[in-house]
Amino acid sequence: HATNKTLADYTKKFESLFTLTPPRMRMIVNGLLEAFEKGLKEPGQVVPMLPAFVFGWPEGNEEGDFLAVDLGGTNLRVCLVTLGNGQFELTQAKYRLTEEQKQGDGQALFDFCAQCMGEFLKAQEEEEYIKVAPDTVLPLGFTFSYPTEQDRIDHGKLIRWTKGFGAANTEGHNVGAMFIKSLEKQNLPVKLVSLINDTTGTLIASRYVNPTTKIGCIFGTGCNAAYMEKIGNIPKLKHLGLPDDDLMAINCEWGAFDSFLHEHLPRTKYDIMVDQASNKPDEQAFEKLISGRYLGEIMRLIICELIDEGVLFLGQSTYKIEIPYAFDTAFLSLMESDPTDELLMVIGIFSHFFAIDTTLEERQFFLALAKLISTRAARLSACGIAGLVKQMDCLDEGCSVGADGTLYNKYPKFSDRIHQGLVDIFGDKGKNIQTIHAEDGSGVGSAIIAAMTKKRK
Ligand code: ADP
Repeated sequence: HATNKTLADYTKKFESLFTLTPPRMRMIVNGLLEAFEKGLKEPGQVVPMLPAFVFGWPEGNEEGDFLAVDLGGTNLRVCLVTLGNGQFELTQAKYRLTEEQKQGDGQALFDFCAQCMGEFLKAQEEEEYIKVAPDTVLPLGFTFSYPTEQDRIDHGKLIRWTKGFGAANTEGHNVGAMFIKSLEKQNLPVKLVSLINDTTGTLIASRYVNPTTKIGCIFGTGCNAAYMEKIGNIPKLKHLGLPDDDLMAINCEWGAFDSFLHEHLPRTKYDIMVDQASNKPDEQAFEKLISGRYLGEIMRLIICELIDEGVLFLGQSTYKIEIPYAFDTAFLSLMESDPTDELLMVIGIFSHFFAIDTTLEERQFFLALAKLISTRAARLSACGIAGLVKQMDCLDEGCSVGADGTLYNKYPKFSDRIHQGLVDIFGDKGKNIQTIHAEDGSGVGSAIIAAMTKKRK
C-alpha cells in the first residue's frame, strides 16, 4: 500500500479537481465569447464559427419527400423524411461504422455511405413507403458532422477530422463532391442538395416545431452547437454584400475552444493524458472534457492510476480495464441510474465486463467519480450555451436550446445539471434558458434545409 488514504479521501481529492465554481464558469463564458468574436471576424480561427449557408429560419410550409444521410461519429444513419403541414414523418436505418472505415480511405468511406443509402432506398421501395417515379430524383441532404468550410450549401471542404476519425485523402477536400462521386457509382435517383452539420440540422428541426428555439446543440460522440447570426455581425462575410439584417446559421465548432494554447479550461492530468494519447493531440480541447467519446476514458485513467498505486483491486487481474477506451461512457450512465443501495449495477459492470470484484466502498467511489466527471461536462456545456446567449443578448427574452445526442438523451440528469449550471452563471435569469430534446434533429433538419434550399433556387 502506497498511502494510508481511504477512498473517501480520494473522493475529496477528485471533488476539488473536477468541481467548477460559478466564478470559474463565468471566466470560461468570457473566454468563449472572445473566441466567438474572433471566429466571426476572420477565417481560420481556433473556434472557426463556420457560416453554414442556411439563410434564416424555416417558414413551416416546407414539403415533400427527402432523403438524409447522417455521418455522425459512431453510426451512419439513412432517413426518409416526409414534410408537410409543419409536421414530419421519418423512417430510418442505422449502420455501425467500423474502425477500418473511420481510418481507411475517405472515398471508400463515402462509397459505404452511398451503398447503405442504396440498400435503404431499395428496402423503402419494396415496402412501398415511397415510390420514385422514373426520371425523377429525390433531393438528398447530407449531414456531415465535422468542421467543413463552406462557400455554398452543397460544398464543404473538410478542415480536419474530429471524434477519432482519420480517413485518408479527405482533409482539405470537398466532401460534397466526394459523396456525389460515390452516389454516381451506385447510380441512385438522388441529387445532393445540401451539406450540413448535425448542429445546424438540430437548430432548424427544433425551430420547425418550437419557435422559441435559438440554439441547436449536440452531445454525442462529440460536442458542438449552432445558432443564427445577423450577417452584420459576421465581418468575415462582408465581401458577399448581403444585407446586414439577413440571418445566417453559424456552426460554431465550439469543441475546438481552448485548443493549442490551453488558457481557459481547467484540465486535470487525466484530461491531458486523454488528449496526448488521442489521434489529434491539442485539438478539440473543450470537446475532450465534455463528449461521450471521452468521459469513460477519463474515468478509466483515474481507475488505472489507483490500480498502479495499489489502492484498488489488490490481488486481482486487471488487464481488461487497462485497455484504452475499454470503459464506455455508457457505464457511467448505467452507474448513475443504479437505484440499489448495494449498487448492484456497478457490481455487474465490473464483474461482467472486466472480471473484477468490487467492495461497496469502491462502488460508492466509482459512482462519486461518474457524478463528478459528468457534472463537469454538463456545467461546461452550460458555459457554451451561456456564451451564445450572451452573443445573441437574449437572456432577458429567454430561449429554447434544441439538444440531441446520446449523452444528452440517455445520461441521467445531464439536462438538469446543464440547467443548474445556467442558474449558477446567470442567477435566476438562467431559468429563461431551457434545453429541449430535438427528436431526430439532424435527419429532419437536413430534410427541412434541403426543402428551404429548393425554395430559394
Ligand atoms: P453520434 O455523436 O455519433 O451521432 P451518439 O449521439 O449516439 O452518436 O453518441 C455516441 C456516444 O454516446 C458514444 O461516445 C458513447 O460512448 C456514448 N454513449 C452510448 N451510450 C450512452 C449512454 N447510455 N449514456 C451516455 N453516453 C452514452
